[in-house]
Amino acid sequence: MSRTVTHWIGGRPWQGGPADRQGEVYDPATGRLSARVDFAGPAEVDAAVGAAKEAFRTWRHAPLSQRTSVLFAFRDLVDSHRKEIAAMITSEHGKVASDAAGEVQRGLEVVEFACGIPHLLKGSYSENVSSAVDSYSLRQPLGVVAGITPFNFPAMVPMWMFPLAIACGNTFVLKPSEKDPSAANVLAELWEQAGLPDGVFNVLHGDKPAVDGLLTHPDVAAVSFVGSTPIAKYVHRTAAEHGKRVQALGGAKNHMVVLPDADLDAAADAAVNAGFGSAGERCMAISAVVAAEPVADDLVARIRDRIAGLNVGPGTTPDSQMGPLITRAHRDKVAGHIEDGVTAGAELVTDGRRLNVEGEPDGFWLGPTLFDRVTPDMSVYTEEIFGPVLSVLRVDSFDEAVELINANPYGNGTAVFTGDGRAARRFQNEVEVGMVGINVPIPVPMAYYSFGGWKDSLFGDSHVHGTEGVHFYTRGKVVTSRWHEGSHGGIDLGFPTA
Ligand code: NAD
Repeated sequence: MSRTVTHWIGGRPWQGGPADRQGEVYDPATGRLSARVDFAGPAEVDAAVGAAKEAFRTWRHAPLSQRTSVLFAFRDLVDSHRKEIAAMITSEHGKVASDAAGEVQRGLEVVEFACGIPHLLKGSYSENVSSAVDSYSLRQPLGVVAGITPFNFPAMVPMWMFPLAIACGNTFVLKPSEKDPSAANVLAELWEQAGLPDGVFNVLHGDKPAVDGLLTHPDVAAVSFVGSTPIAKYVHRTAAEHGKRVQALGGAKNHMVVLPDADLDAAADAAVNAGFGSAGERCMAISAVVAAEPVADDLVARIRDRIAGLNVGPGTTPDSQMGPLITRAHRDKVAGHIEDGVTAGAELVTDGRRLNVEGEPDGFWLGPTLFDRVTPDMSVYTEEIFGPVLSVLRVDSFDEAVELINANPYGNGTAVFTGDGRAARRFQNEVEVGMVGINVPIPVPMAYYSFGGWKDSLFGDSHVHGTEGVHFYTRGKVVTSRWHEGSHGGIDLGFPTA
């Protein structure tokens, strides 16, 4: 093992000498160290922001046609390298190959949306707001933008941010998760091949000092963050205190309500897919199934039977449906939550701690786990577990289900399973959550809509990608212009009106 992942600054790997500190990168399926990643200190932060600042001087003036030709080239390169990117994700994150490929696809869709930037940046124009006076609006880039991203989508979440930021004329410093840092460097190389000028896209690796360096740097204009709620709050506060525009997406606890008239096979399939896909390490994973009492026994039995047929193994093995967790420490933490659920009196229907994966005894494994009769006071419900643990809570009415969800501090995603259009409509109207599914368990908006939760799942007022992304990465300007003929009207100290 000799691979070192280093920063990408000014269009090339960092040349400024060895890092003072490094992190360790593991293959979660084997538990073996696979690389070391350099951690940035103040010199590397300054170099990355400095390269981005210098590149902004010209990139902000790049014609829209130049920007789109680079974006289209990048789109084609990501498309043709999708297998390589997905394999890199699997080797460091552990998710299965099809899941990793899906993440690349969803990221690519944001690049495709950004290819339409000439249309998205169009302003408005009003002729003759006064005699020979016209008024029009522009949207202009902010400058150097930082993106700080979590481990669970090492390609997609960065691609929620940088395609639009760059298309809008900003330059970008990405600080990816230190747990699976390599996908970011592959994307940086593809930008280079696509013809993006040096310094427009930079990757700074590291942990808290790198993040703090970006949050407080005077030359960073805006910060996009995705990660856990405590860090999202911290990032939002610190960046705002330093005068930056900031959007900080946090953690989640996503509920799926199953009403008595739901198709129970569809609901059970959805609960298993959304609960255990990516080993539950998705911010839109379902972790609480809220079952109407009359169908709860039946639903639990159907989920249990489906879990028994799941194949857990290395993401590189074609028939694996669920891979390992990201680190040994995280696996142990999730196993601790399962123990807490048992102690609190929840009914453990399926215990994932018993899992053995043949040939890989040191991988960070934890099997799918199902609890029934969980109550809202139990930590297995109150904590964001971020692992393959599904809790069933039983309710007696529609109102009780909505009250439960609305009382939860998180508001990222939720879903209702029902055959009743009126109930679905009431649900979408009353639930205090940013992304709602109706018979759809993971309602992730397409690239042309915007992604974001409510309450403790988002700090700031802009969601990511879609038109809110364009808005976040630009600032508006309104010009009032007069090209008059004849008299200019002379001196008049009155307040101007039309
Ligand atoms: P995390 O909060 O630990 O880390 C996110 C980023 O913050 C990383 O780049 C990390 O290096 C940095 N960071 C960590 N600790 C820090 C500190 N003390 N000071 C400054 N920076 C710090 O999150 P994670 O474990 O990588 O990702 C999982 C979390 O992300 C979950 O809570 C999940 O719900 C959330 N998430 C949310 C969304 C969303 O859209 N709302 C999407 C994906 C993940």
